[in-house]
Amino acid sequence: MSLVDLPLLPLGKGRDLTAERGVECLGDLPAASDPDLVARAIAAKEALGERVFVLGHHYQRDEVIQFADVTGDSFKLARDAAARPAAEFIVFCGVHFMAESADILTSDDQAVILPDLSAGCSMADMARLSQVEDAWDAMAAAGLQDNIVPVTYMNSSADIKAFCGRNGGVVCTSSNADVALEWAFDQKADVEGGGKVLFFPDQHLGRNTAVLKMGMTLDDCVVWNPLLPGGGLSVEQLQGAKMILWKGHCSVHGRFTTDVIDELRAKHEGIHILVHPECTHEVVLKADLVGSTEFIIKTIEAAEPGSTWAIGTELNLVQRLADAHPDKNIVFLDRNVCYCSTMNRIDLPHFVWAMESLVRGEVVNQIDVDDETEAHALVALQRMLDLPGKSHRD
Ligand code: SF4
Repeated sequence: MSLVDLPLLPLGKGRDLTAERGVECLGDLPAASDPDLVARAIAAKEALGERVFVLGHHYQRDEVIQFADVTGDSFKLARDAAARPAAEFIVFCGVHFMAESADILTSDDQAVILPDLSAGCSMADMARLSQVEDAWDAMAAAGLQDNIVPVTYMNSSADIKAFCGRNGGVVCTSSNADVALEWAFDQKADVEGGGKVLFFPDQHLGRNTAVLKMGMTLDDCVVWNPLLPGGGLSVEQLQGAKMILWKGHCSVHGRFTTDVIDELRAKHEGIHILVHPECTHEVVLKADLVGSTEFIIKTIEAAEPGSTWAIGTELNLVQRLADAHPDKNIVFLDRNVCYCSTMNRIDLPHFVWAMESLVRGEVVNQIDVDDETEAHALVALQRMLDLPGKSHRD
């Protein structure tokens, strides 16, 4: 396997602008030690006025989130951007797939800017279009072409969303994954052999939803490993499965362990364990509550003063919740400090550089999804928007 074929480019080095992976950011950045960075960011934002709309994902650093006009999860932010057609520039403080979704949902007149192009997402990188197409072909060869519906998590590149749009599939968030799965199985209810879902890129969200919300068993789930011939599965395994889970995971949420949960329960009587469904199945089983970032925020807001919480999600958000709720005891569900390294790539120097470039009339780091991909991805996103009930949050 050549370096180019590696699913991840180490430390964001190299150039591959068509992939979700990190790439080098070639901007002429101000020094991180510049004491005027905050003042420069304020001045640039004032100079741009209503022409710019700054989005900040919950996992962003404080130094950046302070400049966000709105904060939220990826889908909320993309929808917020679409609701601001007067904003010429959408500066997305988040990662690449999020900026792509914002570009898909906003008008052609709006430019979506990612302050650092090296802010990719390792989970989204784990499902690349050529790999997914190979898997699809293998499943067709196993006689399953009429049975499978592809379902992709919001945390995937635009071409994967487009693949779902082209092939009768749907996008989901961590809040509506169960509704999306129900919809997918309904599409194939009358097909001989029943329906199956190919779920990517996060095996944990797929498994947790299938088993804990849909009543399936672990035996109903198989894992497709894109690095193995035939996904590492026999035809019989594919035919017997209801959920074919892509072997992908979040490097941040995959760190939380049951050992730490046991340790914290022993140390703090009455502690509540609150985790995101991107955590492993074992961790989710041991937790008290599981839900999206918005669910985590609302749960902490509504918690009793004096209550104790261990939260299993990205550390920037956990720290911000702890700061915002000093009357509650909030700890991180990991022994080590571990941020999402790609989210953290959007820092103040990149933000200032992107904003000052816009003030000079120079649009830098624009994320522009091609028309064909956008059209197909919109089909899958629209199917999600048409799902009954539930808010569409991740
Ligand atoms: S927290 Fe996980 S899913 Fe989110 S951007 Fe980072 S690696 Fe990707």
